[in-house]
Amino acid sequence: MINYKEEIIRLKEEKNIVILAHYYMRDEIQELADYIGDSYYLSKIGLDVPHDIIAFCGVHFMAESAKILSPHKKVLLPNMNATCSMVEMATKKEVLKLKEKYKDAKIVSYVNSSTEVKSISDACCTSSNAYDVIQNIDAEEIIFVPDQHLGSYIQEKVDHKRIILWNGFCCVHHNIRAKDVLHYKEKANQELQILVHPECRAEVRDLADFVGSTGQMIQYVGQRNEKDFLVVTEEGIFYELKNKYPDRRFHSLNILCGPMKCITLQDLYECLLYEKNEIILEESLREKAEKSLVNMLTLSEKK
Ligand code: SF4
Repeated sequence: MINYKEEIIRLKEEKNIVILAHYYMRDEIQELADYIGDSYYLSKIGLDVPHDIIAFCGVHFMAESAKILSPHKKVLLPNMNATCSMVEMATKKEVLKLKEKYKDAKIVSYVNSSTEVKSISDACCTSSNAYDVIQNIDAEEIIFVPDQHLGSYIQEKVDHKRIILWNGFCCVHHNIRAKDVLHYKEKANQELQILVHPECRAEVRDLADFVGSTGQMIQYVGQRNEKDFLVVTEEGIFYELKNKYPDRRFHSLNILCGPMKCITLQDLYECLLYEKNEIILEESLREKAEKSLVNMLTLSEKK
């Protein structure tokens, strides 16, 4: 029987492959990764690492973004079924149609969008830099696709700009209701810090002590003295939280993203062994999409 863990370690060293993993991956995948993080962190790391091959343990758009930014690297996705349904909620044709209506608006696409949509966007953003990108982009009107909840969250914070929302959503975070959080709180009957991902509905965000991306939530816990945290996002985040803060207690609503969880150790092993599931992009499309990702990196670091 194959010892996947040992084989993955051997193969990545032998072939000089770097493994990047999102915080929502299974624990055993995060354990073997060279870098774990949210999509913003991983997009930057993919650029910086010297390796020629990246095994991207995340969903398809993340591996595509790594390929867009690093065209000369071989980017592999261990399981091609790891796709995010939010990506399908906005097509290039539909977005261009909306743009006809709002000619002066700039298009900001959440990184959870297709390469085609990125290619017609003025900038991309992730949940950790959406505020900075919207704040710093040179436009008063912004078409924000596809996540309506992240868009409305940023609109609450940036009131001097108008954000035209799309009707997309993350089916995992969108399903959580305020009553789920309130019910947990009541049952727990104790003080809880409530951390909520901005892909959640406003009714859930309104209950939060802190709203932020996975990376920002992890940072936030480190800045607090409280012991108990109800973490309202995909439960893969608990791997890093428990490793980093063993003295804290993390409470869960058992939120799972199926596509994130579909990558197994066997998939990763076969991906490294055969170097299979390479992300291939048409070059002119990639170049256009690259501009929006590079703009994201610039705008999110602009003071
Ligand atoms: S958690 Fe939501 S946004 Fe993230 S990959 Fe899963 S479905 Fe897509």
